[in-house]
Amino acid sequence: MARCLELARLGEYYVAPNPMVGAVLVADEDRIWSEGWHRQYGGPHAEVNCLMGAESRRAEVVSGSPATLFVSLEPCSHFGKTPPCADLIISKKDELNIRRVVVGSLDPNPKVAGGGIKKLRDAGIEVVTGVLEKECRHLNRRFICLHEKHRPYVILKWAQSADGYIGSPDQRVVISNPLTKQVVHKMRAENMSIMVGTNTALIDNPKLLNTHWAGRNPIRILLDRHRRVPLNYNIFSHDAETIVYSDNTEWQYILSDLARRNIHSVLVEGGATLLKNILSTGIYDEVHLEINPGLNLRGGIPAPVAECGFGSLFEEQTIENNILYTYVHV
Ligand SMILES: [Zn+2]
Repeated sequence: MARCLELARLGEYYVAPNPMVGAVLVADEDRIWSEGWHRQYGGPHAEVNCLMGAESRRAEVVSGSPATLFVSLEPCSHFGKTPPCADLIISKKDELNIRRVVVGSLDPNPKVAGGGIKKLRDAGIEVVTGVLEKECRHLNRRFICLHEKHRPYVILKWAQSADGYIGSPDQRVVISNPLTKQVVHKMRAENMSIMVGTNTALIDNPKLLNTHWAGRNPIRILLDRHRRVPLNYNIFSHDAETIVYSDNTEWQYILSDLARRNIHSVLVEGGATLLKNILSTGIYDEVHLEINPGLNLRGGIPAPVAECGFGSLFEEQTIENNILYTYVHV
């Protein structure tokens, strides 16, 4: 299953809003016979890639040796862009002598939700569930959030000075360093959309693209209640799609609307007003806070604070003197 998770991650920047999935077929005294993962949105699922690969190596495997298929997410049971994987596994059951399927986490998609496992069991295949389940769910936390909570996974991110300011009211202030800037681009690649408020779009005039990491540009989301950001600003460049919310900027409404568009994650990059508003709703999943301990601004826009903290500290990293804290909100 740990190998399945490694394989699943290879699809990280290419499969959203689908889940990342890895599959491994083991036979002949625990020898890995074939591997596969979901590589591209709309492309074959991990199980298909794994079982197709097994066919070409069939002669190498001792005939009749019982095989176990490990897969990090429950095999699908519905017709999506591809036929159901549960049906494929059942059709290959005798040919590849698949006796057992080991599943990491259940598929929360209501079209599957246990249906894949039931199909396999009904066909006489032993199914084991819950192996490295926590790790499997963490890997696909965005996909799971979309289906279980009907909203995208929300990550709040900002950088602040040692004395607690995130910038100056009228000019751009550099708090990050080149390496932490690259980390931000990695986060843009991991999330389907990126959000800013009016002042950030006007003062920083950011493009909000992913140019320093693999994968796609996120969909840009601008909250601009009074439509103050001119159309010739960088956020409207043709490099990526931009969605503007102006009539209704209520947080729950925006999240429901993004979920309806099948957007499974949103990275909120500021500014302070937007971040504070979201923190006050309590509807967010992670906070990524970067502190530059060598920079004192002695005034400016205060960094967001939360009365009861941002959540539990998940990770702390130091990158070229700046400290990156990741909090998970529960
Ligand atoms: Zn499938």
